[in-house]
Amino acid sequence: MFGALDGTGFEVIDPEFEGCLIGHARVERLWTGARWSEGPAWFAAGRYLLWSDIPNNRILRWDETDGSVSVFRQPSNNANGNTVDRQGRLVTCEHLSRRVTRTEHDGTITVIADRFEGKRFNSPNDVVVASDGSVWFTDPSYGILMDYEGERAESEIGACHVFRVAPDGTVAIAASDYVKPNGLAFSPDEQFLYVADTGASHLKGGPRHIRRHRVAPNGALSGGEVFAECTAGLFDGFRVDREGRVWTSAADGVHCHAPDGRLIGKVLIPEFVANVCFGGAKLNRLFICGTTSLYAVYLTVNGVSPV
Ligand code: MG
Repeated sequence: MFGALDGTGFEVIDPEFEGCLIGHARVERLWTGARWSEGPAWFAAGRYLLWSDIPNNRILRWDETDGSVSVFRQPSNNANGNTVDRQGRLVTCEHLSRRVTRTEHDGTITVIADRFEGKRFNSPNDVVVASDGSVWFTDPSYGILMDYEGERAESEIGACHVFRVAPDGTVAIAASDYVKPNGLAFSPDEQFLYVADTGASHLKGGPRHIRRHRVAPNGALSGGEVFAECTAGLFDGFRVDREGRVWTSAADGVHCHAPDGRLIGKVLIPEFVANVCFGGAKLNRLFICGTTSLYAVYLTVNGVSPV
């Protein structure tokens, strides 16, 4: 056994959260040395996790078999969010090249989308693939506001939307009423799409919440009510477990919200958290991207696939 890492721990707000925790399990720091960790994605067949170190222009790879970390891709076009599609392929948001790509099984890269109605995207941030093969991503302006995690440029679209790429490649606006749409994930049955808005980062009093939309079979969204307000910093990326709880990034760690939106507990991390994903063969280990470091903790709950 090992002791608790400084600054880590659990905050139980509702007894329901205790049921998510393993009594003796502790948060581990698996690696450190990044500038801004984002976009974790678990590759079950290879037993590895990929994640982005955006300012360092690289995607890193943590290997479950020996705990080693190597550089998977550099330059990465300042890659941000990553996910895995239903065929096990990597799907990546790239700030610098302002596009969403898929890495094929043979290693070649296919552009899924790089513009809407002839205009380049701002800087795709986070992405999820639905079971029908549609690719949903957010397009805030963080990658074009300055040169730190992309390249300064004007917005061609002039707004920050949520986009859906249909299985036939058609790109459409899925939601246009966001300030800075960011993380996104489906409920386990895909009846709901959750989307974070980090508008407060550049707009005083702006949104710092996750909204919930109902998803029609044709991909149309309705509803969009606020699901949860962030009580520490901003919600960036997040994932949903099999019972529909939302495990989301925040300034003080990972916040866990019940399916009805209640904040039931926190996994405390001593750095800003930008994103999380479930991994391991049983998807019962939560991987946490915390600024300079990759953390992980085993839970009693399981993530949904794709991750
Ligand atoms: Mg993000």
